[in-house]
Amino acid sequence: MTSGADPQRYAFVRAGAPGPTIVGGSGSYLFTDDGRRILDGAGGAIVANIGHGRPEIARAVAAAMTTIDYVMPPWPTPNRLALRDALVAHWLPAGFEHVFFTSGGSESTDSALRLARAYQVAKGRPQRWKVIGRHPSYHGITLSTLAVGSHSGRRAGYEPMLTEFPKVPWDDAEAVAKIIEAEDPDTIAGFIAEPITGAAGGCLVADDDYWSSVSALCREHDIVLIADEVMTGFGRTGTIWGHQQFPFTPDVIVGGKGLGGGYVPIGMVSTTARLAEPLAGTGAFMFFTFTGGDAMCAGALAVLDTLRRERLVERVAEIGPVFEAKLRAALGHHPNVIEIRGRGLFWGVELVERRDPPTPFALTRRFAADVSAEALARGAWIYVAGSGPVHDAVMFGPAFTISEPEIDELVAIVAAAIDAAAAKG
Ligand code: PLP
Repeated sequence: MTSGADPQRYAFVRAGAPGPTIVGGSGSYLFTDDGRRILDGAGGAIVANIGHGRPEIARAVAAAMTTIDYVMPPWPTPNRLALRDALVAHWLPAGFEHVFFTSGGSESTDSALRLARAYQVAKGRPQRWKVIGRHPSYHGITLSTLAVGSHSGRRAGYEPMLTEFPKVPWDDAEAVAKIIEAEDPDTIAGFIAEPITGAAGGCLVADDDYWSSVSALCREHDIVLIADEVMTGFGRTGTIWGHQQFPFTPDVIVGGKGLGGGYVPIGMVSTTARLAEPLAGTGAFMFFTFTGGDAMCAGALAVLDTLRRERLVERVAEIGPVFEAKLRAALGHHPNVIEIRGRGLFWGVELVERRDPPTPFALTRRFAADVSAEALARGAWIYVAGSGPVHDAVMFGPAFTISEPEIDELVAIVAAAIDAAAAKG
């Protein structure tokens, strides 16, 4: 095994230097093949909610796979049914009884766009196809989710292939009202938003009034309100869903990452009878070949069991303010930090060249990526974010089990990483 994998092996992946070769993990740490440990301050890509190295998840997957391999997605299997029932009983808001499984986040948001469209068609409104998105935002890497999102780095080069969806600034409810009128409400199928903006914004948080106004507008015009909870779902913000931090309930909830906790590739889309019933019998909603694989569902069930057994969502609510306080103490006065924002264990730190007057680094400087690389060199992983108005941000999304000494280690490393990157000018 070689340390520092050969970049040629990953020729299609856009990334900087190849990462270290990881051979194991436990709790908040990953282990490298050359004997180092890396404090995983972002749970990989905000995925490893229950931490690394839990053999009970592997056992659940192995037991399921020993019994059942491939089964047509519409046919019931034990774990497929059990996962749906567990989600409805313990995780989804009241009324969300319809659940569709996928293999990850992009398939789920893509399916939510299809669901919004299929609902409008089933209601006899075939002219409604547009889904309003926000600047900045990220909803995935399929062509339609790239199109409805606004992550300039990830869209770059694909623009001619991307449908023009209407877009609004992330925090401006008046702009939503205006664009609905300008486009004609009778052409609009849905509105999609991350309750707290992830990779494109570095945890941008809109206020309560914004969410009240936007959800009222969607209700008024029967526009399907989709909450993309791929990052914010399953306890990351201290409530089960990120939208529960704000005064609204969406029509569709999309989950991914934390549902499988990094152990299995699985995502989900859930909605209520109001949206699902008009589709019944229309055949309008095709599944993916790997929708709801029994062993994947078994893995997700074991992850959800762990979250409940160890009361980890409650723990996020408790430790979140501690994390915030330590982050603010370590970085709040740093000359290159302009804002720290987030909820629970989901935090973004926006970085600038100068705070006064606010002056971002040139995009070509790739400052946030540099900070992340400096942190990795010092033994901690943090996620890089930013698009449009947010040039540079780093994101924190550690395991829900992170301890206070681990938080201290993480923020100290990141403070040193920002210093080191800034010292290069
Ligand atoms: N939606 C959001 C909010 C995300 O953060 C991501 C991934 O980062 C996706 C969708 C796409 O998920 P995946 O990478 O699992 O396809």
